[in-house]
Amino acid sequence: MQVTFFGATREVTGSCFLVEAGGRRILVDCGLIQGSPRHERHNRDRFPFDPGAVDAVVLTHAHLDHSGRLPLLIKRGFSGRVFTHRASVDLARIMLEDAGYLQEKDAEWENRKRARKGLRPVEPLYSRWEAQVSARRFHGLDYGDPVEIAPGITLTLADAGHILGSAIALLDLADGSRRRRVVFSGDLGHRGTPILRDPERVAEADLVVMESTYGDRQHRPWPQTWAEMGSIVAEAREAGGNVLIPTFAVDRTQMLLYMFNRYFDEWGLGHWRLFLDSPMAIKATRVYARYSQLYDDEAAAFERAHGDLFDLPNLQLCEHTEESMAINRVRAGAVVIAGSGMCTGGRIKHHLKHNLWRRETRIIVPGFQAAGTPGRALVDGARYLRLWGEAVRVQASVHTVGGLSAHADQQGLLDWYAGFGNRPPVAVVHGEPVAQQALLQQLHEAFDARAEAVDFGQSLALG
Ligand code: ZN
Repeated sequence: MQVTFFGATREVTGSCFLVEAGGRRILVDCGLIQGSPRHERHNRDRFPFDPGAVDAVVLTHAHLDHSGRLPLLIKRGFSGRVFTHRASVDLARIMLEDAGYLQEKDAEWENRKRARKGLRPVEPLYSRWEAQVSARRFHGLDYGDPVEIAPGITLTLADAGHILGSAIALLDLADGSRRRRVVFSGDLGHRGTPILRDPERVAEADLVVMESTYGDRQHRPWPQTWAEMGSIVAEAREAGGNVLIPTFAVDRTQMLLYMFNRYFDEWGLGHWRLFLDSPMAIKATRVYARYSQLYDDEAAAFERAHGDLFDLPNLQLCEHTEESMAINRVRAGAVVIAGSGMCTGGRIKHHLKHNLWRRETRIIVPGFQAAGTPGRALVDGARYLRLWGEAVRVQASVHTVGGLSAHADQQGLLDWYAGFGNRPPVAVVHGEPVAQQALLQQLHEAFDARAEAVDFGQSLALG
């Protein structure tokens, strides 16, 4: 019995782990590698295992850095089922279809350049249609319901509190008389996150594979974060410009809309025009609205008292391009929520082009920004941003609201690990090296845990 790490090793994207037990092979997550174009090229690499020999896939949650290479896995020979939470089936369907569409667009653009150079065209990683077809392999589960996904391998999902449907995956493995349990944290949520419940703790494991995105940081307390959001909105109103919020379509968007709803009067949001400028975020919001049984107590109570969490009187949903382009004419008083979350693509780039050079603009960055992305450049104080080959001066104020993260901070990660009474060994993944080192040190000091950051292709035997 062993686990081999084929992604998210000393970095935050491309999660992909192979579990082998009793002659069976289970893949946990099959995510896209995201970041600079040079880095993303590796998405086309051959899988370092035979996709046709994988019995089943476990998907922890719908985010593309965990799910985005599933259509490719299927295209290259995987013929089994993908087990995930029911809400993740709905969200992954939306996200993969969009990813397929973007892959097609990227390939078209690339091929126009290649044609001019006399080079043969490249194929998209996968098409929109291939993404749609792959969604048929998904099998939805509930939290806390053990299911045998291959002979001798039982999967139980626990709530990870990261996005709707996100799960910690408990794999109970049997090989002859040997029994072992490996627990994959997936991405762990930030305690107190609006809408979602806190990550569930697990009592026992033989190996824990744990994320470490914010292994070196503590988030500020939620009340401070909301006070900060309120003051940025108030200040933006005084500055007389627009507010741009680059967000991930899933979760950060729904959290913001819900908080806009809760603080509507306090933040003076009635004075603004609110735009949700992302067809994918609009679809994801509908999924969030459908799964109210997964809400935490506070959101459930709000829903009983006020109805739909995301229903704001002055919110305009922009599904079509023309509606998005119309926002470009608004010089002041618009709060625009648009993707992509790291400004690598999507409609936010157009809004940046029209607003970045204006001093009165406020940009609120609510999510993690991977190295090499335009979003990271903004957070790091870049003076210019290149958009479609044009250098645009950054004169807008950029506010990073770190407390809004969808990931647990260092204390959250340690508290989650503390739930394991038997202090199992830990393989740390899904984090940049600095974050990983800080977390490893804490795991050693606080728990005397055997913890290490694993390398690509490294295997850990399960005793
Ligand atoms: Zn995630």
